Amino acid sequence: MIDKEKLIKIAVEFNENRIDPLAKELDESNRFPTELMDDIRKHNFLGIHYPIEYGGLGLDHLTSFSVVKEISKGSAGIGLMFIVNWMAADVLMKYGTDDQKEKYLKPIVSGQKIASYSISESIAGSDASGITTTAEKRNNGIELNGSKYFCTNGGIADIYIVACKTDTEAGAKGISLLILEKSYKGLEIKDYADKLGCRSSATTSLKLNKCIVPFENILGKENKGFGLAMDGLVGGRLGMAAIGLGIAEKAMSNAISYANSRRAFGKKIASLYAIQEKIADVIIGLESSNTYFEKVCNMRTMGSDYSLESSILKVMVAQAVNKSTYEAVQILGGHGYYKSAEVERYARDGRLLDIGVGSTEVLKMVIGSSVLKGSKLNSINRDT
Ligand SMILES: Cc1cc2nc3c(=O)[nH]c(=O)nc-3n(C[C@H](O)[C@H](O)[C@H](O)COP(=O)(O)OP(=O)(O)OC[C@H]3O[C@@H](n4cnc5c(N)ncnc54)[C@H](O)[C@@H]3O)c2cc1C
Repeated sequence: MIDKEKLIKIAVEFNENRIDPLAKELDESNRFPTELMDDIRKHNFLGIHYPIEYGGLGLDHLTSFSVVKEISKGSAGIGLMFIVNWMAADVLMKYGTDDQKEKYLKPIVSGQKIASYSISESIAGSDASGITTTAEKRNNGIELNGSKYFCTNGGIADIYIVACKTDTEAGAKGISLLILEKSYKGLEIKDYADKLGCRSSATTSLKLNKCIVPFENILGKENKGFGLAMDGLVGGRLGMAAIGLGIAEKAMSNAISYANSRRAFGKKIASLYAIQEKIADVIIGLESSNTYFEKVCNMRTMGSDYSLESSILKVMVAQAVNKSTYEAVQILGGHGYYKSAEVERYARDGRLLDIGVGSTEVLKMVIGSSVLKGSKLNSINRDT
């Protein structure tokens, strides 16, 4: 039996010994550290919560997402590699055929292959039904034409789950998911995007030019891909929350150390109420976010529907990480504004929480409208 606490401890040490020392260079050079993949595979980090039959460890989601949180304390972009990989694995596990699971899911779970999950296009992010990449049947397979944007793990991934229009007249009801391999002719992976933050994550666009995909690589049913694509985002939101909590906690621990050593007007700034209040406000947000994070992880482990809760959690953590990184820079004063300060990087990395895997504005719309329509939340009794 694998000791869960020990696994998280290994992640903490992996971060301290391998990721942390690289983090600044990765941010500056805008690159994903493929040299860490052997260790990630060795510890089976990418398979923690997947069933043993697919090569995973069969553990709970609090353990696996806590590992992502620890890894993201070192470099949030590496956490992103995990969660996008898992979004692809989730839809393969839930909707894939036995052959697709054998060929694609198992290598993703073992970390032998990295996956990406490419729904967005340059013209369609929040409004995913507006994608324009087409997929048309030919004698030798399904021909894809168009382009995808914001593809996390682009270039480092071997497997690409791509959303396309199989019926251009039917909006969301004309979308299908297809499984592509990096080697397919007609799939061109563009250069890494130069981003504000999470720069250790590989983000590219994809060009699809008469790319032929075998018929058996359609995931789920034709024209039913929109629901599948949205389903994959539910786990992605939980993953984003794990990343955000990692960034927020690390930023605050830096700020606390600094406040305990920096002196102004003859005393430590930690003794000033203005500083204590900032830290208190951040800690209150982090405590409630961590409690809710545990709840949502446990809901997933129990097999409960946690789609609404994962949206609430991501918005909650977005607020917590923005607050934490903002105040961390403020507590470090001018030193926090310099590139040499880690908190400067955390402030940039944390901004992704409000954007990726559903923007805060869109998620608030989803949360508000779902609750108004009577969706059940464990914590609220709307009859009173
Ligand atoms: C680093 C990074 C990695 C990413 N990785 C992936 C990936 O791997 N796969 C993938 O498919 N996508 C990925 N994305 C795309 C991401 O999911 C989108 O950026 C996000 O969904 C927002 O879409 P958009 O950027 O097109 O903004 P838009 O949808 O154009 O939104 C612009 C603004 O309008 C607001 N808005 C839009 N609609 C509404 C509404 N109905 N109500 C209120 N406000 C609204 C938004 O909140 C936002 O503030 C990634 C993005 C980034 C930055």
